[in-house]
Amino acid sequence: MSINFSKKTVVSTKELFRQAEFDNILKCVHCGLCLESCPTYRELEDEKDSPRGRLYLMRGLWEGELELEQSVIDPLSRCLDCRACESACPSGVPYGELLEKTRGIILENTPQSLKERVLRNLLLKGLFRYTSMMIVASRILKIYAATGLPKLITKTFIGKLLPKSFVFQQHLLPNCSGESFKRKYADQILSPVFPEKTLHTTKIKKSKIRVGLFSGCIMDVSESAIHESTLTLLRHFGCEVVVPGNQGCCGALHVHSGDRKTAREFALKNLAAFEPRHFDAIITNAAGCGAQLKEYHHLFPDETNGGEQDWIGFENKVIDILEFLSRFPELLESLSWREDQDIVLYDAPCHLMHAQKVDENPRQLLNSLPGVKLVPLKESSWCCGSAGIYNLVQPDLSRDVLKRKTESVRQTLTENPKAKTIITGNPGCLYQIRAGIRSENIDLRVLHPAVYLVERLKILGTSDIPKIAI
Ligand code: SF4
Ligand code: SF4
Repeated sequence: MSINFSKKTVVSTKELFRQAEFDNILKCVHCGLCLESCPTYRELEDEKDSPRGRLYLMRGLWEGELELEQSVIDPLSRCLDCRACESACPSGVPYGELLEKTRGIILENTPQSLKERVLRNLLLKGLFRYTSMMIVASRILKIYAATGLPKLITKTFIGKLLPKSFVFQQHLLPNCSGESFKRKYADQILSPVFPEKTLHTTKIKKSKIRVGLFSGCIMDVSESAIHESTLTLLRHFGCEVVVPGNQGCCGALHVHSGDRKTAREFALKNLAAFEPRHFDAIITNAAGCGAQLKEYHHLFPDETNGGEQDWIGFENKVIDILEFLSRFPELLESLSWREDQDIVLYDAPCHLMHAQKVDENPRQLLNSLPGVKLVPLKESSWCCGSAGIYNLVQPDLSRDVLKRKTESVRQTLTENPKAKTIITGNPGCLYQIRAGIRSENIDLRVLHPAVYLVERLKILGTSDIPKIAI
């Protein structure tokens, strides 16, 4: 079988996949145990939109039995890349890696729609590459929010006159700061708050732990409370913190949409910024970014053009903030926490649970706070439908998946009516769940766990700690 799109030479799909190291697809024994955990299969009830169905399609392409035609590409595009199927699979099929490689081949060998080309060139290849442009975009959105237009559109009859997807996007808008977090702290060494106490309580042999803090692209200019709170926590846990000013976007959105070339560029930039031997750990507070940073080696299959770098050395240092803090229970206990009773709901981000395989420690950490009872959502491990820019490129299916999530929020809240907060550790999920809750008028605030932890922390004698705007 062969493909022949304009401006491309005729190449067999088998040939295209040969260089992609795809043998792991043979691990799939077609048992179907992953089907019941797949959000798109649950919504669409079509085998092609299940993990097994998509693996059949990918295998067909790999073996040259199928062509890169729309009926094959569409189900692969509808996948959320949530990787719940990986957690369910007893055979260890690396579904996410296979899908991302396939999407890379699709992008390089098929024409894109106008909408995709605009999104890709304006956002992924343009905006996310330049911090100055991100700051400008953040300022524009901040001014837009200050005009009150988003509220006018979502809360009055005006919204009824506009397309549903546009109204929903108003709920999705991030809380923009108009400034770059990494530029604010660029390359300063931010010292621990209680250096003596830290030395006294920690079992770590080293006198100082130095960590690098990853700030991302959208997060770098929005939801500033998340990064500020992460910084506060790290300093209270005795770390020296550095925010490298030359770091960039992790490239996750690019990899999920097939743009592996731009993602490689970002990977090399971040490797240089976080020269791993300078740090004991590289901290992330966005589950999606963390998963991507830990999988950079997938982008460099051979030992040329970046493949010779020490990706494993870098990846081994990357750790989510909650996983990191949970390693120091004695420090957690030594800090002073509020003790009033609070019930909080918890949603597990897919890329923390299914990609990074981190679930129990964050929940235990939050549950161990004095007075706090953590209640996971009824379907905490299911995707919320955010999935990078999925909510922009597949708005209908994304909204259907979100509807299930808001329903599970509603059910969990009915059983826990005193809860006022829901916590989730990925900004994409936070925006999406917050939008779902706002559009359904559910009375809950959605917080990142780092922000919640700082809210519970009694901060004493810390005049040098940055003020947190929540
Ligand atoms: S990644 Fe998620 S949406 Fe895609 S096949 Fe797996 S479970 Fe389904
Ligand atoms: S991906 Fe895993 S669980 Fe799903 S059909 Fe294949 S072997 Fe079975």
